Amino acid sequence: MSQTSFDIQQAAVIGAGTMGRGIVMCLANAGVTVQWVDTNPQMLEQALATVAETYAHNVRQGRIDQAEADARLSRVSAAADYAAIRNADLVIEAVYENLELKQKIFRELDGLLKPQALLASNTSALDIDAIAAATKRPEQVLGLHFFSPAHIMKLLEIVRGAQTSPAALDAALVLGKRMGKVSVVSGNCHGFIGNRMLHPYVLEARKMLLEGAYPQQVDAALQGFGFAMGPFRMYDVVGIDLEWRARELAGQGQDAPEVQVDNRLCEMGRFGQKSGNGYYHYEPGSRQAEHDPEVDALVLRVSEGLGFQRREIGPEEILERCLLALVNEGAKILQEGIAESAHDIDLVYLNGYGFPADKGGPMAWADQQGLADIHQRLLALETRQGDQWKPARLMGELAAQGKGFADR
Ligand code: NAD
Repeated sequence: MSQTSFDIQQAAVIGAGTMGRGIVMCLANAGVTVQWVDTNPQMLEQALATVAETYAHNVRQGRIDQAEADARLSRVSAAADYAAIRNADLVIEAVYENLELKQKIFRELDGLLKPQALLASNTSALDIDAIAAATKRPEQVLGLHFFSPAHIMKLLEIVRGAQTSPAALDAALVLGKRMGKVSVVSGNCHGFIGNRMLHPYVLEARKMLLEGAYPQQVDAALQGFGFAMGPFRMYDVVGIDLEWRARELAGQGQDAPEVQVDNRLCEMGRFGQKSGNGYYHYEPGSRQAEHDPEVDALVLRVSEGLGFQRREIGPEEILERCLLALVNEGAKILQEGIAESAHDIDLVYLNGYGFPADKGGPMAWADQQGLADIHQRLLALETRQGDQWKPARLMGELAAQGKGFADR
């Protein structure tokens, strides 16, 4: 199949929730016409109104003129059902994070769409190959992982399945460029590049709450390093309840000690910014995270209840554990070929996760420190705290040759 067969003029988006709204605007802003489907007509109506309001706001701010707003809005239309989008060149699915649901949608679309159409999922972590397997065109299935809010965040992870064709990837890269995104190609693994690395980073932050730290201390240390937001402020923005519900649905992970503070917060209805309370308190209409002594008391109760002997944890230890967890997972991702280069990993963290720009990204930061030094520090943590700190093989090899990640 030649690359020109994937010329994307008309797209469809499935799902009119948080992500669908941003994705539709990215497409319309780039001159692509978009048909929009949601099983909930009210949701779709609300979403169309939100898009119109966003463009009107952009006009009031002087960012675009009225003619441009009208042109963008005219590219977006509601579609009654899947049959109505059968001529789309590309469909981007952004429904609930549920593999069976996504497979069902892909199967149905595969039967309806023209043979050369591309099918993409905005999943945050699910297996792209398992989604592609529901179709008879796995070479035309890929992940297009936008970040929230999708029309504002620069990063686009393009997820390459085992069978995704080079031409399909090229078409996604061209589209990414048209949308003004920083596109990074990722291999298929749980969480892709960004969310996979986030997992051990957040795990360390959560463990330190149980061992003696408080959310505000952890966030302050990482913000002091230059992160736009510490992990707990980030969870308040994303919604603490998303993972809580996902654990509940999957029927696993809910008993892990590290998630007990999250669980208690969610049981109290403290989901984050959207509910006015999470790890922090928010005054009505404000996004200002305010320290909440009730949360400290909860952290203390949970950690003592689990039998932890709390101890003072300083900012150096917080930085050491969170940053090295991030770098070591990045090294594994590079070693496995999930990322094509250390620079790509840095692009993901700079553009999607608020890593301080002046430090160049986690892998560049590790190179600046000296990989041999980072390797030693990981070995020291491994001795003190166990196997989870075992340095990635690649890191040991590069360190032994006096090289950095960038030399690979
Ligand atoms: P959401 O809950 O805000 O919206 C999902 C929408 O899908 C709802 O409007 C629902 O009515 C609709 N829907 C459900 N089943 C449908 C079907 N069969 N056909 C058509 N529409 C259907 O969800 P979201 O936060 O926008 O997340 C969507 C996807 O994007 C998920 O896979 C999520 O993991 C991923 N994602 C989310 C974020 C985020 O920050 N929210 C970031 C990146 C990726």
